[in-house]
Amino acid sequence: MTHRVFIAGLVHETHTFLAHRTDLSGFESLVWVRGQQLLDRCNGDASPMGGALEVAAANHWQVIASRYGAAMPSGTIIDDVLEGWWGEVATDLDGALAAGGLDGVLLILHGAMVFTSYPDGEGEVLRRVREHLCERLGEVGAGIPIAADLDLHANTSDAMARHASVLTAYRQNPHTDAREAGVRAAQFLQRLMSSGEGTAIARIAPPTIYSPRGTGTDAEPMISLQRLARRLEVEHPELLEVCVLGGFAYADIDCAGVSFLATTTAEVDAARALLQPLAELALDRCDEGNPLDPPIDGVMQQILASGQPGPIGLIEPSDNIGGGTPGDGTGILDAMLRFNIDNATVILNDPQAAAACHACSIGDRLTLPMGGRLDRFHGDPVTLEVVVENLTDGRFDLENERSHLASLVGRHVDMGTCAVVRAGGLRLLLTTHKTPPMDLGQLRSQGIVPEQLYMVGIKAAVSHKAAYDPILSASFYVDTPGLGSSDLRRFPYQHLRRPMRPLDD
Ligand SMILES: [Zn+2]
Repeated sequence: MTHRVFIAGLVHETHTFLAHRTDLSGFESLVWVRGQQLLDRCNGDASPMGGALEVAAANHWQVIASRYGAAMPSGTIIDDVLEGWWGEVATDLDGALAAGGLDGVLLILHGAMVFTSYPDGEGEVLRRVREHLCERLGEVGAGIPIAADLDLHANTSDAMARHASVLTAYRQNPHTDAREAGVRAAQFLQRLMSSGEGTAIARIAPPTIYSPRGTGTDAEPMISLQRLARRLEVEHPELLEVCVLGGFAYADIDCAGVSFLATTTAEVDAARALLQPLAELALDRCDEGNPLDPPIDGVMQQILASGQPGPIGLIEPSDNIGGGTPGDGTGILDAMLRFNIDNATVILNDPQAAAACHACSIGDRLTLPMGGRLDRFHGDPVTLEVVVENLTDGRFDLENERSHLASLVGRHVDMGTCAVVRAGGLRLLLTTHKTPPMDLGQLRSQGIVPEQLYMVGIKAAVSHKAAYDPILSASFYVDTPGLGSSDLRRFPYQHLRRPMRPLDD
């Protein structure tokens, strides 16, 4: 039997401490597609949507493709984005119901999305979809399975657990397996549509919050947490999936922090009891979930004294683009200049500086202020006399199809108009759209060979590792000014539930 499945999605990781608001343009410049455009863009790509569509094709679903949007992590989203998205999705839902009904709904989500009036963004999205189905179909609407996938950095809520039928989540950070989470969500939906089984989702959220750096899955405590989750799935076949959510700490909302979900075909209270050891382990190992970064000057002295050959990566969680910060922080650039580093590269998101270079020609010399523009938290602008070395349209294809970036964009990346400038031994890549350093194609496409550098500044916490770790001789975390700091005690939380470890230790 062919199932009729409604597919939509909205993906954003929201950093609520940033003053800058995210509007529709943030989505339109990354992913904003509907209907056939959605299918054309995502079929065969490495995003969760691409994975879900592969399952759809294999099972001969009749897909009703509605609106799917994704934006780079950034500040709180204005309500207009939600209302615009929902207006189209509700219209498409009604169209689908009128044209032959629905067997299931599949949503591609992130889990850490915050709107001005709705701190629990995904809870609101799932509530609207479920209640719309119930309004239109009564009892039948309550029984239509809704499956959704989540990022490992989701801040989950009871509303999400209540309104969804199945939730899956990425298990790797860097997110090399985002596509698989979309595949599993679609496969579970197929199972529920075919079997008619009912499910419930258990949730538990221990009073702890981890920094992004503490959520890498090649380190503790995530190794132990993921291992225990996989064991629970094997030992308890009634659990379709056990999700380990590291959470997203820069969302000042009630439900931010570490949490666990289990979709079960049996009793929800029994499933919640099975999650208890995960909650206890996460709380016990909270310190390992919050490693701190050392001041940059001490690290620079240590590197220079050691004679360590390149390429050396300086990892800067404070301006972790994948965590929402502006990508224009000048902390590393400033240190490279002060320590006279040669053959080094920093990427700065600075549309004004890129435009100023595009008003010149390759080989021209100009005096250029760079970085530190979007707010006052990411260092001062640095003004240098530079030579323009390259001018491009900033587009590239991922070198690594399983890149963390694929979870957002699929395959093609658009950094906007870009310029490469040289100042002494430093080369700077200036971008127009902030682009997290998750794929080496970002540098190589602009004429910079990362393997040949002595030092490279990396605006990330964990998500760079799949791209950079294989080519770096060594990497060092550094503390610089910025709102992606690994020290969560620096943030003025007002809405987070308390007490919370390590904030209230
Ligand atoms: Zn994530």
